[in-house]
Amino acid sequence: MALIDLHTHTDRSDGSTPPAELVRQAIAAGLKALAISDHDTMAGHDVAAPVAADCGLELVCAVELSTRPNEQREGGKREKSVHVLGYWLDSPPSEEFRLYLETQQASRRKRNLDLVAKLQQLGVAITLEDAEVYGRNQVGRPHFARVLLDKGYVTNIQQAFDVYLADDAQAAVDRDEPTLKEGIQRIKAGGGLASLAHPVRLPQRGAELERLVENLLEDGLEGIEVFHSEHDPADCDEFAAIAARFGLIPTGGSDYHGDNKPGILLGSGKDGNLSLEYRFLEEMREMSAAKRQPRNGTK
Ligand code: AMP
Ligand code: FE
Ligand code: FE
Ligand code: ZN
Repeated sequence: MALIDLHTHTDRSDGSTPPAELVRQAIAAGLKALAISDHDTMAGHDVAAPVAADCGLELVCAVELSTRPNEQREGGKREKSVHVLGYWLDSPPSEEFRLYLETQQASRRKRNLDLVAKLQQLGVAITLEDAEVYGRNQVGRPHFARVLLDKGYVTNIQQAFDVYLADDAQAAVDRDEPTLKEGIQRIKAGGGLASLAHPVRLPQRGAELERLVENLLEDGLEGIEVFHSEHDPADCDEFAAIAARFGLIPTGGSDYHGDNKPGILLGSGKDGNLSLEYRFLEEMREMSAAKRQPRNGTK
């Protein structure tokens, strides 16, 4: 049985696995198709693409955008980040979308400089170069957490977030991030299929989640992540029902981060709770093509 995994990270964002190595791991795990969905970058995908082509692995172009539910109100507390997956099943992303990702890289670089300054003000002896040892292509907060741990400022990664790095912690720094609506619109305009990532992490559930999803349809939301390592069978059922109700394309994957999230395995998730057959990807393609087809009577 040919399996697939459509949600994975490399060391070009906050995973630990180099892109070419991930391709080899995917083949070793018996996968027929893989999507590298790094946070706000396609650098890992781009490195993996020729390797996958050589090895006969189908690599699906993807990204996972970090967004915020709404514009930030002046002086107000930021709402929890919402992730949106983008999939390019048949054609590559537009040049405009790739340029947009560049703006997100710039926003992250500025955030990182501000974050280092704030940490230094708090008496933490840290430089950007320290974090760049872990974040090879794109430095994220998990990389700063590793440095704080190495240097003995905290005793575990979670403490690094709780004390310094979390949205409401001492060294919290805002950055320019798209709203959820903008993120979806950008993916759609760039020719991609936008899917709401791991909805189990959203504060909304049940009728509230349905209202959110319904609202996002007009922005171009076309999918919802039904299968994910953090979804139990009841979660999957609820999100599958929402997909059916709103005509969304079910998507799924492990959210593999290599050693940075031990316990989540490529292709099989947490304790084997994920198993997506190749047919699942074919169904995504069929549903996506149907959505793009003009309806009868209209042009
Ligand atoms: P960044 O995209 O660089 O802002 O980093 C965001 C990542 O940091 C998330 O994907 C999580 O992996 C991690 N993270 C953010 N906030 C927390 C938190 N409060 N506790 C633990 N991990 C967090
Ligand atoms: Fe991540
Ligand atoms: Fe995510
Ligand atoms: Zn992810």
